[in-house]
Amino acid sequence: MFVQKFNTDMEEKKFSETSRKHYMKGGDGPDSYARNSEYQKQVLISAEDLIHQQIDEHLNIQIPRFDPQNTFRIADFGCSIGPNTFYAVENIISPVKNKYEKSNQNQTPDFQVFFNDLVGNDFNTLFRNLPSNRKYFVAAAPGSFYDHLFPKKSINFAHSSIALQWLSKIPKEVIRRGISKGRIHYLGGEKEVKEAYAAQHEEDFGRFLNARADELVDGGLMALHMVGFADGDAFSLSGIQIEYEILQSCLEDMVELGKITKEKVDSFNLPHYFPSESELKALIEANGSFWIGKIAKLALPARSKLGPKGLTLQIKATLGMLFEEHFGNEVAEEVFKLFLDKLVERPALLDHKYWEHTIYFVFLKRKGVN
Ligand code: SAH
Repeated sequence: MFVQKFNTDMEEKKFSETSRKHYMKGGDGPDSYARNSEYQKQVLISAEDLIHQQIDEHLNIQIPRFDPQNTFRIADFGCSIGPNTFYAVENIISPVKNKYEKSNQNQTPDFQVFFNDLVGNDFNTLFRNLPSNRKYFVAAAPGSFYDHLFPKKSINFAHSSIALQWLSKIPKEVIRRGISKGRIHYLGGEKEVKEAYAAQHEEDFGRFLNARADELVDGGLMALHMVGFADGDAFSLSGIQIEYEILQSCLEDMVELGKITKEKVDSFNLPHYFPSESELKALIEANGSFWIGKIAKLALPARSKLGPKGLTLQIKATLGMLFEEHFGNEVAEEVFKLFLDKLVERPALLDHKYWEHTIYFVFLKRKGVN
């Protein structure tokens, strides 16, 4: 009994610690996130008009904190290694500048951008590739965005794109009771597994909102692009589920081939959660520190346009590190080879309907002043 408990505690600790391995494939080689994140860029492009319009509507530059003599501070949470984060930042600075230029003061503030990601993120590549013509000062803010990362009331604009689906850890219940054995995720699984993931997301997103509520100035703004589910979506039709089921079947093949044990697969779970619009609204309202400017679904091209190879590279660049950590490099390589083979062998899997994501655009304003 003691031994079993000890093992469970060890497992739990190990899984909590995997949060450090949530980061993307570094460098700028063919497998890197930098070279395989065109889809994430499409998300930013689709949100461009909305961000401009929301900034125009909600940024109140008459409040003293927004006086152009003060530095305008922007933080991108879960920025990864670029180049998307540079695009995101320009997309914020441009409408903010416009707003100042249109005002009577006709003066623009200095901009300072903080790039946040986990400490293991490849910040070297990020800083090496900073746009040379940028008109802003830069700094890194390493650490988990579920913790406080900045002094109180020091940030004017918080941004995060396609990062908040990463939970801080696998829910305790899932590890302790082994309730998701045979599945690497809650999608398509038992109700209690989904509930455990939802509870973890509630805790994590609550922590994210609390930290940002402290760090943002009154009247400060926040734009989030989050992977989610449309209310009432059948999980079995979701692109994410199909992706995870193929990955799972690759792991099962590896067990058949005797390359890994079934237990090893049973103890592997993906730390992702995809909330619905009503869940998001309820959590933001429960937090109470923000006005909701807008929550909208973004229109996006289906990922299947990338083709089998592009899709595999994209998924490997984002999930590869987790697989490497749990199964080792060689097995991870083989899993993604099998994944590619499956897509090539069964072109029906590339049907658009399997590869569509629901992405929510969420725009919030820190309460305190109008
Ligand atoms: N925003 C970028 C990257 C998205 S990938 C883009 O649009 O291209 C998601 C990023 O979130 C990864 O770089 C990952 O390391 C980061 N991430 C995941 N969990 C995190 C956490 N708890 N704190 C900070 N960053 C995190």
